[in-house]
Amino acid sequence: MSTTTSNTITVTNLGFPRIGAKRELKRALEACWRGEISTAQLQDTARDLRQRHWRLQKEAGADVVPSNDFSLYDHVLDTAFLFDAIPDRYRALADRDPLAGYFALARGLQKDGVDLHALEMTKWFDTNYHYLVPELHRDQRFRLRGDKPVAEFLEAKALGFAARPVLLGPVSFLLLSKAVDGSDRLDLLDRLLPAYAELLGKLKDAGAEWVQIDEPCLVLDQDADDHAAYRAAYAALENVPRPKLLLATYFGALNDNLALATSLPVEGLHVDLVRGKEQLDAVLKALPKRRVLSLGLVDGRNVWRSNLDNALILAKYASGHVGANNLWLAPSCSLLHVPVDLSNEKSLPGDLHSWLSFARQKIEELRTLADALQGLPNAEAELTVACDRLESRRQSSRVHKPEVAARLAALTEASAQRSAGYQARRSLQQLALKLPAYPTTTIGSFPQTLEVREARAKNKSGTLSDADYDAFLAAETEKCVRFQEDIGIDVLVHGEFERNDMVEYFGEQLEGFAFTKLGWVQSYGSRCVKPPIIYGDVTRPRPMTVRWSQYAQSLTGKPMKGMLTGPVTVLQWSFVRDDQARSQTCRQIALALRDEVTDLEAAGIGVIQIDEPAIREGLPLRRSDWKAYLDWAVEAFRITASGVADATQIHTHMCYSEFNDIMEAVAAMDADVISIETSRSRMELLEAFVKFRYPNEIGPGVYDIHSPRVPDGQEMLDLLKKARAVLAPEQIWVNPDCGLKTRSWPETRAALTAMVAAAKEMRVGEYVAA
Ligand code: GLN
Ligand code: ZN
Repeated sequence: MSTTTSNTITVTNLGFPRIGAKRELKRALEACWRGEISTAQLQDTARDLRQRHWRLQKEAGADVVPSNDFSLYDHVLDTAFLFDAIPDRYRALADRDPLAGYFALARGLQKDGVDLHALEMTKWFDTNYHYLVPELHRDQRFRLRGDKPVAEFLEAKALGFAARPVLLGPVSFLLLSKAVDGSDRLDLLDRLLPAYAELLGKLKDAGAEWVQIDEPCLVLDQDADDHAAYRAAYAALENVPRPKLLLATYFGALNDNLALATSLPVEGLHVDLVRGKEQLDAVLKALPKRRVLSLGLVDGRNVWRSNLDNALILAKYASGHVGANNLWLAPSCSLLHVPVDLSNEKSLPGDLHSWLSFARQKIEELRTLADALQGLPNAEAELTVACDRLESRRQSSRVHKPEVAARLAALTEASAQRSAGYQARRSLQQLALKLPAYPTTTIGSFPQTLEVREARAKNKSGTLSDADYDAFLAAETEKCVRFQEDIGIDVLVHGEFERNDMVEYFGEQLEGFAFTKLGWVQSYGSRCVKPPIIYGDVTRPRPMTVRWSQYAQSLTGKPMKGMLTGPVTVLQWSFVRDDQARSQTCRQIALALRDEVTDLEAAGIGVIQIDEPAIREGLPLRRSDWKAYLDWAVEAFRITASGVADATQIHTHMCYSEFNDIMEAVAAMDADVISIETSRSRMELLEAFVKFRYPNEIGPGVYDIHSPRVPDGQEMLDLLKKARAVLAPEQIWVNPDCGLKTRSWPETRAALTAMVAAAKEMRVGEYVAA
């Protein structure tokens, strides 16, 4: 048993998943929100999870465990709440009932005539976790409110765990917030720091030796003002009574922020050596004497076992510089982004199982490294096992398929190129499709009613036979086709009733993908995802969507739009291989999907939509890396789309705003038609397209599907007129935003009927104008 005494290497952890291996926290939260359990019962579950997770980490070999990494919803919201950054609209409630106020900030509140909208949610750096964006304003005041970090530290201490409280650092906290009045949020730093100082003092009084202060914004592009803020913040905290500070950076290398990070007056620095492996030398050089160095050696963002031999070399090297006493071993970042425990997975193929590592296993890997560094006898055997596992992965025919490599090698520039340019394709497509002006369509899914979800669940559990399930899907699809014909939609879809999730559906049919039973990762609040694991070269053994598209087309004389998820989105929403570049894996997926596209075409489908909602979120954290990413992302889309004849119309769909940064790439994708989400921003999002003079066709969403209210025809007509004012009439398609699957049939009917009427109105207007 090693402790933090002299000449031992300390294993620490930056954060642990909170949701529970079986999503216990999710269940408790949702039950509490529904009023089925009390808040006291919710707190019991939370306490139980914290305790269980501390014990698990200790058993796995951590010397120091994190505390205050737990959250009932989100750690950024916790921080805002802790420092009283509560928007006025919630204040009365938060004062009266803090927990109700906290959840209202997270989820909004509609009750007894009050209608409070929630804080905005956005992605936590480039992970698939979403945090709540604190709202600040120029007159913002802060104060310490509640004592969560202290209470959780004491809770751990009472249980016998040496915990290191985790705090989001003051500068990152401000940078991740938004100032609702357009003021500069860093101007608030001076007011915020006393609250941090007070908290640090309380943690010291409670007995905390160290505090982990996270400043992940240090891996982003930071300007001189940001640098000044870090300097001011840590200078102000330098001499207050406090525990020692470990400044934690993760999700990338410090690069041009390194000199700043090592100059701050703190006692320790954590660096990410998975994403920023090449920074070790520079860090060692810049690190002041006697400062603790925490090495992020094991990937906290992915599910693979580490190359421990390589990690050991780095750790030994660092130990030679800083000394064993000042060296800590850690995951690259919080383990929030991986599932809890691989030993819960019973049905993964054995060799795949032996290549994987979830949160528990990652700490065990760090223990092995620490033991090896200290020359403990058990370590040798463990390293050998790790090495064998890596070798089996390297050699496995489950992973490496020569035919995929050959196909990739044979790709040429022409493989990512439609034969004709857009204008020529447009004429051919007009001839083939004979669509009216302002053609109407939808984004693909139709209401996934309880009935649809129940049928799928029953089929999965074996209580509904495949034949009966098939017949059910056929009937739903036919209803959907008739419905669209009825209300006069021009380009139909089959409705996606057979699909569970837009990535899982494809992953399950592609080779090289595996699915866990309990590999849950928190997306936001109580929401979890179970990302597929891409472990091997990707192939498509057989067509995946042709059957339902073809069937739907057979029911109607109108064009039926085929529907697939694009390669970048599949990649982005999965755990990906770490033994080859992401771009390479993406290209493999693109080739598999390309076959699907050409098969759809051969089956008589003349319009094919390739959804890429995740292209923008794949943007690297540093601007200097954007171009390389966008180049391969666009290329992957084009490989997928370019196997068809010019008369076949390729659509794509992206469900967001903010195209300004990536407009050139969007245009380079060269889809014949793109649908985007615009109804919420009342067409402002079109600006980027207009400014760029986007040449191809655009369907700006005219119905905000994420809101339960059904807009009337006039509202949609107004939106279309706005679009018409800035685009050529022949560029404009008429469609809702994506996500009809979340709505009910009556709303869908009402909204789409009004949408078709608005399109017809536009046609009349155009006729008169001509
Ligand atoms: N075709 C999908 C749908 O309509 C697209 C979903 C998405 O872009 N997120 O549901
Ligand atoms: Zn979408």
